[in-house]
Amino acid sequence: NVISNHMPTADLQRLDAAHHMHPFTAGSELAEKGARVITSAKGVMLTDSDGHQILDAMSGLWCVNIGYGREELAEAAARQMRELPYYNTFFQTTHVPAIALSAKLAEIAPRDLNHVFYAGSGSEANDTNIRLVRHYWAQKGQPDRNIIISRTNAYHGSTLGGGSLGGMSGMQNQGVPVIPGIHHIDQPDWWSEGGDMSPHDFGLACARQLEDAIKQHGPDRVAAFIGEPVQGAGGVIVPPDSYWPEIQRICDDYGILLIADEVICGFGRTGHWFGSDYMGIRPDIMTIAKGLSSGYAPIGGSLVCDEVAQVVNDAGDFNHGYTYSGHPVACAVALENLRILQEERIVENVCNKIAPYLADKWTQLTDHPLVGEAKIVGMMGSIALTPDKAARAKFKADAGTVGLHCRGRCFDNGLVMRHVGDRMIIAPPLVITESEIDTLIDRAVQSLDETY
Ligand code: PLP
Repeated sequence: NVISNHMPTADLQRLDAAHHMHPFTAGSELAEKGARVITSAKGVMLTDSDGHQILDAMSGLWCVNIGYGREELAEAAARQMRELPYYNTFFQTTHVPAIALSAKLAEIAPRDLNHVFYAGSGSEANDTNIRLVRHYWAQKGQPDRNIIISRTNAYHGSTLGGGSLGGMSGMQNQGVPVIPGIHHIDQPDWWSEGGDMSPHDFGLACARQLEDAIKQHGPDRVAAFIGEPVQGAGGVIVPPDSYWPEIQRICDDYGILLIADEVICGFGRTGHWFGSDYMGIRPDIMTIAKGLSSGYAPIGGSLVCDEVAQVVNDAGDFNHGYTYSGHPVACAVALENLRILQEERIVENVCNKIAPYLADKWTQLTDHPLVGEAKIVGMMGSIALTPDKAARAKFKADAGTVGLHCRGRCFDNGLVMRHVGDRMIIAPPLVITESEIDTLIDRAVQSLDETY
């Protein structure tokens, strides 16, 4: 009675539904339909328990940047497990994998983001950020500077801190109070909310909501602004070009910390090492996770600039940390992942070759009658499904059902695309080839045809 890949799918699904509570999933649906059982993967292709080959255009959950099946990462993990499977980084101890990864991150991160506080995930890292910025301002003699401004429809994780920072009502209305002192301004989603404004003017108007919020709460009360360079889980909302420079100006003018949540955008996803490089901004703190280890091991962290780190370091104990902060196996895997990204020049290849190829094909999807706008930055893209392109209309009744249906068609056609409402999104592994992109597009078009 060994449970293995060789068991019939229905038996695996039955056991799964009986004992496994899944994130963001209705348990009753699992019992009814069963979950898809993924058994192995190589490159960009998944194999399921019925032997189907599925092109994973979501890199798992936006994380498998270097693709599946890289032996070097398995070896790095095994080596580290043999040598030192665990030791903590609390109370004046450290180890070589954490030292080496921290030095490497300082080398590749922009500006003087020379310090890293590790976590096990992006959510935990954002929890760190809440404490870190409030602690920083308190140490600077401004304890009332504790308001953090975020955006509607942002995703910053699923912990109580991450969910409070995020701007998705579904994450917040769950009977648990959100952390006080976090306020939200509008997301820069021109397609849905731009009305008659040009994208440029709309971008400026959205950014200036930050200035309004600072004035409303009091410039000496606002600690930080947090945003994803490109909103990912919200539907790959690419801001107009005018947006981020104006946000940077406002943060500079009022001296508030800028936190770039790079959990999705980091490590090559935008065709640059970080989304902040792509957007030309200089964050004081960056949240990192996912692509840091290409998802091969759970690890996240906060990259922190010299000034903030110095204030926090000089203030005595920072009463914060996780058992797995700087886990040696996760650090060793992340280090090997970064070596591969650098030595194989994967980010450069995305920027110069693969992203332009994908962008060309992806934007042609607007020829399809169901597709309104198509947006793409590097290797993350979205299409808005619409009943009326000219009016930028949404499917009013049952928002999200067309997207859900399309996602189902994709899966049946051997393609993982995700839907956020009626937006379809992709974020394929950075190592996808041109011919695999052709397959992705063919399967997407077929699925759109079947949805239309
Ligand atoms: N921040 C962003 C921008 C994310 O997209 C996510 C996850 O999708 C998180 C934070 C949370 O990361 P994790 O799921 O590793 O906790």
